[in-house]
Amino acid sequence: MRAVQYLEVGQPPRVVDVDVPEPGPGQILLRVTAAGVCHSDLTVMSWSADNFPYQLPLTLGHEGAGRVEAVGEDVGSVAVGDSVVVYGPWGCGTCRQCSLGRENYCPRATELGIMPPGLGRPGALAEYLLVDSERHVVGIGDLDPVQTVPLTDAGLTPYHVVKRSLPKLYPGSVAVVIGAGGLGHVGIQLLRAVSAATVVALDIREESRELALRSGAHHALPSAPASVDTVRELTDGAGATAVFDFVGAQATLDLAGQMVGMDADINVVGIGGGALPVSFGSPPYGTFVGTTYWGTRSDLIELVELAKQGALNVHVERYGLEEGPQVYERMEAGKIQGRAVLVP
Ligand code: NAD
Ligand code: ZN
Ligand code: ZN
Repeated sequence: MRAVQYLEVGQPPRVVDVDVPEPGPGQILLRVTAAGVCHSDLTVMSWSADNFPYQLPLTLGHEGAGRVEAVGEDVGSVAVGDSVVVYGPWGCGTCRQCSLGRENYCPRATELGIMPPGLGRPGALAEYLLVDSERHVVGIGDLDPVQTVPLTDAGLTPYHVVKRSLPKLYPGSVAVVIGAGGLGHVGIQLLRAVSAATVVALDIREESRELALRSGAHHALPSAPASVDTVRELTDGAGATAVFDFVGAQATLDLAGQMVGMDADINVVGIGGGALPVSFGSPPYGTFVGTTYWGTRSDLIELVELAKQGALNVHVERYGLEEGPQVYERMEAGKIQGRAVLVP
């Protein structure tokens, strides 16, 4: 089968031929129907060889959807032909966090060598994808896999933090979304779907600000210090109640710290390498600063329900599998709007 692989540190990914895997006991083989491309892969491919955490070659892609092609022994809840999406942050399945569906925070995954598809295990940018457990697929029924596959990360990751900050998203509150790309534009739709907050989007790209407005943002501003004043004006001086930083660079974390009011939440989602110092009174009193990683299994089940209700409209750029390497180039150049999805 064809697969988009990262073969050598520092070299661009390539489309290669690899064997179709066979499902062992408890495993599921999917015929991939759609696979999303996340900015995190660019970060992975920027790491040096010294501490590179995954074995190469690595089939990329941690957003996967597929039709069940075959199941191993002891798989009971999915059947050949089912249309599913893949829950990516695989955990051990039995620890306390995993028992709560919070496999994204499984403390045992690393020691057990359990890694997500595309981030250690062979990923979804291929014709077939092996899923290690029926826990890690969610049925999507008649939903379009191309539209739905971004929910597994570009939807799941913002949904996890939007839910976490929900008590701060009351009517009259102001939520700021920094970076209206793959994750951010879905984050805006989620904020509008589950809260009454006024949503302000910040982005350096005009096209992304337009997408933010089409996604339901009430305001879209340049990502620049002047926008701190605008947010203050919108809140009668009080400041934002929640910030979702989908960039995480020094410049955006600085803005986040300056925009929030007291008792706010700053959710650091992007892995842009910035730092936000926390000390008494800065950011303002009562403010929580938190990182996050992906989302829970139940979050993904809820997101699929939201999609079935028609509450989400992911902006997708559709490509063939063979175009995978060019898609990464386009992403690096800031030329993708919303989410790029490859269809094998
Ligand atoms: P993307 O490339 O699709 O979108 C990035 C957006 O940010 C673009 O609209 C871009 O114009 C904008 N941007 C860039 N620099 C900016 C700045 N200084 N100020 C404002 N906007 C700026 O990326 P994506 O796939 O949505 O990923 C977003 C980030 O989230 C990445 O850092 C990615 O690695 C990270 N991520 C984290 C998790 C997690 O679990 N924490 C999960 C997935 C992705
Ligand atoms: Zn990702
Ligand atoms: Zn666990």
